[in-house]
Amino acid sequence: METKVCIIGGGPSGLLLSQLLHLKGIDNVVLEKHSRDHVLARIRAGVLEHGFARLMREAECGERMDREGEIHEGFFIADAGRLNRIDLQGLSGNSVLVYGQTELTRDLYEARDRMRGVVIHNAQDVQPHDLDTERPYVTYRDRDEAMRVDCEFVIGADGFHGVSRKSIPKSVLREAEKVYPFGWLGVLSHTRPVSPELVYARHPRGFALCSLRSQTLSRYYIQVPLTDSVEDWSDDAFWSELKRRLPEEVAARLVTGPSIEKSIAPLRSFVAEPMRHGRLFLAGDAAHIVPPTGARGLNSAASDIHYLYHAMLAHYERGDSSGLDGYSAKALARVWKAQRFSWWMTTLLHTFPDSPAYDQRLQQTELEYLLSSEKAMGSLAENYVGLPF
Ligand SMILES: Cc1cc2nc3c(=O)[nH]c(=O)nc-3n(C[C@H](O)[C@H](O)[C@H](O)COP(=O)(O)OP(=O)(O)OC[C@H]3O[C@@H](n4cnc5c(N)ncnc54)[C@H](O)[C@@H]3O)c2cc1C
Repeated sequence: METKVCIIGGGPSGLLLSQLLHLKGIDNVVLEKHSRDHVLARIRAGVLEHGFARLMREAECGERMDREGEIHEGFFIADAGRLNRIDLQGLSGNSVLVYGQTELTRDLYEARDRMRGVVIHNAQDVQPHDLDTERPYVTYRDRDEAMRVDCEFVIGADGFHGVSRKSIPKSVLREAEKVYPFGWLGVLSHTRPVSPELVYARHPRGFALCSLRSQTLSRYYIQVPLTDSVEDWSDDAFWSELKRRLPEEVAARLVTGPSIEKSIAPLRSFVAEPMRHGRLFLAGDAAHIVPPTGARGLNSAASDIHYLYHAMLAHYERGDSSGLDGYSAKALARVWKAQRFSWWMTTLLHTFPDSPAYDQRLQQTELEYLLSSEKAMGSLAENYVGLPF
């Protein structure tokens, strides 16, 4: 098979780029390791920057998102039993959109179907080749048949565990990583959310987050040790621990119910540089991940796709390759700002095991300062709604 752009990974990054390029007549193929059902069963992000929403509309995939997504003009930080509202709209002039990653991915798949885009599922042993030549290609296995895609560019949008980043020579790739000593236990339930806006709760027993996907679908998280497994947590144990970490007035309103999904996500920050090697371009989680605190992951993928899409357009429409040449540096500049913000919010709100008394007092003081200073809250709001791209 021959195409211009071979995209490895059919998650939000790969599908969004595929759709945008296709709309401009740039032929591309997506190779996804798993089935569509598997991809759509993953419960992940829910808070979108307006920049992401704008891209979805540009990709002609924004209709349901605009109809069903909820605009949130603020969120709460709970500490010492009190709720403090961060007025995103008032502080930054902007808001965020709450719309589940699962729904957004479904919209992208449906758009790809409508345009007869080529998305190949269950592609096994995907492997890019000859990335530092003008004619790279990608091989994969379809059941027992060996397949090959010849292309001009390869996009590595295959997430943190994908194959693309690993195909960059070790002598070229630099990796920076921070692993946090805890994870998030998440529960999805068909219950009315405890608060119309998200509640980030700091508590000596550990962090908690009350999030939502809609007014009938709640997503809650609690910080847990990395040694815990999902089997250690019955629904009852989860709900009672969550209640203990929330201010009384919030806990009293909490509607509990059976979990429809329960999982533990380790918290990790990671950046790979450069994001380009020859004709391979990395995008999204393939190049960088953040802890979910502050909701930067999917949103950082969106800015990569924005830069990459415009760089590809300039290359194919005007023969101008400066965007492709500058992609890695431009994307990484924003990626590192998202890393900084996620690290800051994670450090501010979590309980660190064995943290010295000095660090605990500093953490408390940082939060007190934040909540007492309009300027500090303005900086939080500016980052939370998303820096421009
Ligand atoms: C619990 C949790 C909560 C989160 N909350 C938020 C949030 O509120 N806001 C936010 O912005 N972000 C959030 N994130 C992060 C967000 O989900 C990711 O940043 C996002 O999924 C990145 O999209 P992606 O397309 O780059 O990668 P992925 O979604 O990982 O997609 C990569 C795709 O590539 C496929 N693939 C992998 N290997 C191969 C291979 N060898 N060959 C072919 N295909 C392959 C995978 O099957 C997958 O479909 C959260 C993440 C988690 C885990």
